[in-house]
Amino acid sequence: MAGDVALDETLLPLVSAHGSLLAASGPVLHEYGSSVRIGIGGGGRPLAALNEESLSDAEKSGLQAFRLRLSEPYRARKASRPYADVPWGSSTAVPQLHRDRQAVIRGAPVAQDPSAAPAGAPEAKRLAGRVAVGLVIVSGPGSLAMTDAQTRKIVAEVQNGLSYLGGQAPARDVTFVYDIQVAQIDVPDTQSAPPAGTKPDDLYEYYERPWRDAALAAIGQAPGGSGIRSYIRSIKAQKSAQAAYCAFFTHYTLHHFAYCSGSYLTMQYSNDGWGPENLDRIFAHETGHIFGAPDEYAESGCDCGGAWGFHRRPNLNCESCADNSVDCIMKRNTWAMCDETPYHLGYTMTGV
Ligand SMILES: [Zn+2]
Repeated sequence: MAGDVALDETLLPLVSAHGSLLAASGPVLHEYGSSVRIGIGGGGRPLAALNEESLSDAEKSGLQAFRLRLSEPYRARKASRPYADVPWGSSTAVPQLHRDRQAVIRGAPVAQDPSAAPAGAPEAKRLAGRVAVGLVIVSGPGSLAMTDAQTRKIVAEVQNGLSYLGGQAPARDVTFVYDIQVAQIDVPDTQSAPPAGTKPDDLYEYYERPWRDAALAAIGQAPGGSGIRSYIRSIKAQKSAQAAYCAFFTHYTLHHFAYCSGSYLTMQYSNDGWGPENLDRIFAHETGHIFGAPDEYAESGCDCGGAWGFHRRPNLNCESCADNSVDCIMKRNTWAMCDETPYHLGYTMTGV
């Protein structure tokens, strides 16, 4: 077991003597490049032999993350993670995952150009097949710098969170394919209060825009929604993926510490009161929103209706109205999933 995800994960031996890609013997869960693919199954032989000197930076990151997840200290920290099983909406001990229900899946932050508005997540219709994941790790000046250790932690937390989501797919047909960018920028933090009268939805953009657009420039993209879409589409094409999304990780001040904006996520490394040890579950939860899964905790204002996600199903596990609401990653800090979320995520379901 890697991390605290109840799955048998293994580093797949991949490259033949002729350098061609060998078919994997089982489902591939994570792909960082042709030489580093992590699969399901392996019978307790997690690490294949590998010529590590020839690996790309992304492959090295993925391998490092997997080794970290296999390590005893990492697994011990996961076994005693703070706020385990606490509902996301709990206001007693930790901040709410979303400040208000509008933040669940908020509108496009850069919708001034209607043709640029990513209504929903057009590049991420369902969690099935190859899913390109762009990680944009934003490193600013001084205390805003993302250290190498923090970058390694982010890659490992994302891997742990997506091992859970991928491992839950009934058809075992989800492969996360990564693009990892470290964006070095030098813009200052936005710490001043926003102008009076700023609309609630614009508060996200007020804090996010300066560093985000600088990060987009650092990875060769235009500012705002058009740059984000261009990046997501480029990794989708590069990785021959059926779906794609991206996530920015930062130390910069945000209006809220984790949120989903159509096709992308914004995550603060400190993860507010939940702490970096819970980045994996917050990332899994927010990825749920990317694919159209609704919140299920009462404070989100959920109700049991609607037509959510690829399969257009109601939110029957919303704890405000469900008779027997069960644990779920969309409801609390746990590796559990209700019977409806697989449909919301758009997993390949037999009989559907
Ligand atoms: Zn949520």
